[in-house]
Amino acid sequence: MKCYKKERPYQSLSPGWCVLCKKDSESQDHLFLHCEFSIILWYYILKGLGRRWVIPRFSQDLLEVGQGLFGNQRGRLLWKVVVLASLWALWLERNRRIFEGVEGMEVVREKAKTANVMFDDMYSSCGASMLSSTDCASQKQRRWPEDIAWHPNGNCLFSAYCADGGDTQISVLDLNRTQGRARVAFLEDKPHVKGIINSIVFMPWENARFVTGGSDHAVVLWDEKDDNIWKPKALHRNFHSSAVMGVAGMQQKHIVLSAGSDKRVIGFDANVGRADFKHQIDSKCMSVLPNPCDFNLFMVHAGTLERQLRLFDIRLRQTEIHAFGWKQESSESQSALINQSWSPDGLYITSGSADPMIHIFDIRYNASKPSQSIRAHHKRVFKAVWLQSLPLLVSISSDLNVGLHKIS
Ligand SMILES: [Zn+2]
Repeated sequence: MKCYKKERPYQSLSPGWCVLCKKDSESQDHLFLHCEFSIILWYYILKGLGRRWVIPRFSQDLLEVGQGLFGNQRGRLLWKVVVLASLWALWLERNRRIFEGVEGMEVVREKAKTANVMFDDMYSSCGASMLSSTDCASQKQRRWPEDIAWHPNGNCLFSAYCADGGDTQISVLDLNRTQGRARVAFLEDKPHVKGIINSIVFMPWENARFVTGGSDHAVVLWDEKDDNIWKPKALHRNFHSSAVMGVAGMQQKHIVLSAGSDKRVIGFDANVGRADFKHQIDSKCMSVLPNPCDFNLFMVHAGTLERQLRLFDIRLRQTEIHAFGWKQESSESQSALINQSWSPDGLYITSGSADPMIHIFDIRYNASKPSQSIRAHHKRVFKAVWLQSLPLLVSISSDLNVGLHKIS
């Protein structure tokens, strides 16, 4: 309380003054809804979502507004997430102004942008229905995508299929086109010889290029030669003796990582055309995930209980830096379905779990157990992802809820 008084000297002069606009008293409805700061925030968010509304009188009505704004269940659900995140962002901003003496309105636009990016990301990642069976149907058969990736410019979703039966292997859904057949195009080339294409990922390099890895052991790099004409080049076909489960690109040196059921992790230098990094571990690999900040580090998801996550550095050959893990109450076979993600600062890795938990590992510590385990859902957690600019974690679960968690 002492500190509070000291940091808030005007408190004694004007009790409950709104620190965002300094023009009105700070009631809940004012702060979250009618304050000019908050109104601008909501205006930008709605503008970004392409929606119009009449501002409700009471902040508790915000969640219900989605009923009128969105025609589908998904939009309404995500609207609730956006509302909760925005209220929370407003609360943080209020505290920041009280305790850190921040002023000005510039920050509003940035916050609205975050909310819109979050909405778009989640809206599209929940968008399995966009590629309905009609859209997916190629010349030969009806199929479903095995993996999907967004073009870094947005608006184009690339899907990888099964390579069996001589059918097309990659489709491109262009969201800029109007409804109809032209919206989905299939790439002509069929570089994978058989089986499922397990992974499709865009490389974090200047030119947009993507890599696919499949059950045929091959890792293929695709380049855009002309507008919408993509040509494949196999980087390697026999470095793996079993299915390639995950691929990823390292920022520097144009290294393409691949991890396979053969327990191998390969780093292939796409510029030089040879393997730069080879590593054999003690269990099957499911996926590989480069660190967003330290460009030498990457994490491999393996099947061994209590050692599911392996940390590597591309500069250290044949060396595993550290292993992290947890004991799963449910069966081991389910672990393949669980996804990891890095925090934006590259210090934490989050994993879903067959248990209804989100596990968070701090890579700065030598402990192998999670530094935090959040009981988030009542069924299995598929994935938990971090937001870029807010300390927020969003999770999806088979209990059909989207979780929103504050990380301290
Ligand atoms: Zn105000």
